[in-house]
Formats: sequence, structure tokens, C-alpha cells
Amino acid sequence: MGEYLYGRCLSMEIFAMNIITYANQNVHALVAYQPGKPVEETAREIGLRPEEIVKLASNENALGPSPLAVEAMKNAAAGMHIYPDGASYALRCRVAAEHGVSFANTAVANGSSELIELLGHAFLQPGTEVVAADYAFTLYPIVAKLLGADYISVPNRNSWIHDLKGMLAAITPRTRLVFITNPTNPVGTMVTQTELEEFMAQVPEHVVVAIDEAYIEFAGERTDSVKFVKEGRNVVVLRTFSKAYGLAGARCGYAITTPDIAELLNKARSPFNVNAFAQVGALAALDDKEHIARSVEMVSKGRQQYVCFFEELGLEYVPSHTNFILVKVGNGVEVFRQALAQGVIMRPMAAYGLHEYIRITIGTAVENERCLAVLRSILQNK
Ligand SMILES: *Cc1c(COP(=O)(O)O)cnc(C)c1O
Repeated sequence: MGEYLYGRCLSMEIFAMNIITYANQNVHALVAYQPGKPVEETAREIGLRPEEIVKLASNENALGPSPLAVEAMKNAAAGMHIYPDGASYALRCRVAAEHGVSFANTAVANGSSELIELLGHAFLQPGTEVVAADYAFTLYPIVAKLLGADYISVPNRNSWIHDLKGMLAAITPRTRLVFITNPTNPVGTMVTQTELEEFMAQVPEHVVVAIDEAYIEFAGERTDSVKFVKEGRNVVVLRTFSKAYGLAGARCGYAITTPDIAELLNKARSPFNVNAFAQVGALAALDDKEHIARSVEMVSKGRQQYVCFFEELGLEYVPSHTNFILVKVGNGVEVFRQALAQGVIMRPMAAYGLHEYIRITIGTAVENERCLAVLRSILQNK
């Protein structure tokens, strides 16, 4: 019996080794995306109740979703035996109206993450290149490598801002996609409308410019990137319901782009990529401007709490246009671990190569105070 088990284990191991040699090597070579640490997992590990944990790690909205979205999703529950509308017709119409474009200019997906992946499917293959800024969203290089494209990361100019001139200079005849994250994650800075205009005036026609606006609702500066779509440029504006709209769990994002590019994204997606809860939730959330205003207000006050504290302790931080803030704390992973042990989840930045930093999502005033008390105790006991 023992021998039989041993033999079986051994042969399973051999199978496992063999099958990987048959895998797509682009996939095999990837390092999986590391999400923020989940509340339930943390609670289990440190023996607290989930309600006692403060998660400030994934830039979610501490106020939750709009009550209108919650109501719409509750009402939709009894219809879950029916497939969702595969075309997401109502949501796409609503999104088009929101931005003054037509239905053909829109695409929706299972989070804007899926749109980033679909852009990869539509434009990338071995021999092509993606250009982005240093410390960009880690999903961009994952998608590039998945599809066998080369990923070119351009250093930021001082003050951590995308160097759009440098990014222009990095474009070659093989470049297919450029990612501009505005405002950017995990840094929190943004480029101005003038800088965008200058970039668009010079970018060559064989390049698709993806402007990822996951945090635009929190931005101090108003930019208009949809205008480039209206001008017929090869631009894809990416928006998400996961951040200001408070629907990260529902998974929904959208793109505003040219009809040609929208059609490509539509062809590359799976048939029912946006679930029925997400479609009705997002639709209702778009109507609740008050909820967005409340969320933006909470974040701008919260940012001030952090800035005051960082100034007091003399910590270097990056002024933020988003619902998170990047701060230099010494050993980022160690500070993350110690805060975790006290029930506060932050985001260490080692995966971005920023070993001395942590990123903290702005929560409610109470959550922020708890986070700052924990941070103070850690930094003063060093
Ligand atoms: C959070 C985030 C997204 C959106 O993710 P979803 O898939 O829509 O939840 C996209 N881009 C950046 C830079 C982000 O930080």
C-alpha cells in the first residue's frame, strides 16, 4: 500500500513536470498578480473578527456602493437563472450618454482589468512592444508578457510624474500600445491636459494610446481625454466602477474608444463577460452623482489627515490625486507586516520595486485615524 502510494505520487510528479513543458511558456514565465491581502484571510491569521480589520490596501471605496446600486442588485437577484445581456446594451447606452459619444464608441467588461487584457489580445503578439511609465499598474506588464510582447518602462520625470516626452521617444515602429495612467497607480500623480495634447499631437498613427482613468473622479485637475476619441484618434479611455463607484466586487469597467477598436475588443471578449449584477449595479451607480460627491469629499479630507501626519513625522510622501497615498517608511514589507499584526492592511510596494514605500488607501476618518495610530506606534518604536 505504502509502495503503491509512493509510486502514484512519484508518477503524478512526473506528469506535473511534463505538462508544464507543454504549457505556453509566456504563461509559465509569468509572476501572478498579487492583490491586496483579503480581510477574511487576515482575520483568520491574527485571530481577530473580520469587523475588527481595517483594509486600506486595494483602493476600494470605504463608503461602499451607492444605495441605488445595492437596491438594483438586490432586485436583480431573483432573475439570476437567466443569462445576462451579452451585449450589455442598456449599460453601454448609458455610458455613451454619460460621455456624449455613440453606442459604437463603447465597450464594457469584467472590470477595466479585462479591457486591458482585451487590448492585449487585440493588438499584441511576439515582436510588438508596449510602452508605459515606471511603477505602472502591474497588470500592464503581465498582459504584455502573456502575449509575448516586449514591455518598455520609461522613467518618470522628477516628482514622480509620467514623462510623456520620454514615452514618446520610446515609441518604435513595433510599438502597438502605450499606457498613460491618469492619475497613476501606485504613485498618485497626474499629467495635465496640455501635456496630453502635446503627446497626442506627436504620437504616431500605428500606436493605440490607452488612457487608464481608474481614479479620475478623485483628481484635482479636470482633463478631457474623451475629446481625442471624438476626434477619431486611436485612443482608448478606460474607466472603472471599482474605485469611486464602490463596486469592486461586482467587476465592471468600460472603454470609450473608436468604433473600430470597440469592435475588436468586442470580438476578443467572452460571450457573457459582464454579469447581470454588475450591469444593473453600474447602471444605477452612474445615476447617483451625490454618492460620488460624498466619496470624493471623504477622500479629499482623508488625504489631508495623512498629509498632516506625514509632515509632522517628517515622512516623504507623494502628493496624491487619488484615493490612496504613497509614503516612504523605511522597510515597507516590515511596516506592512507589523501593521497587519495590529489589524490594519496596507499595501507593501516591493512588487513595484519600491521597497521603502507603502501605499495606503484613504478610508473613513475613523479608519484613517486607526491606521495612523498604528503607523505612529510602528515608526516610533523602530
Ligand atoms: C484599480 C485599477 C484598475 C481597475 O481595475 P478593475 O479591474 O476595474 O477593478 C485599472 N487600472 C488601474 C491603474 C487601477 O489601479
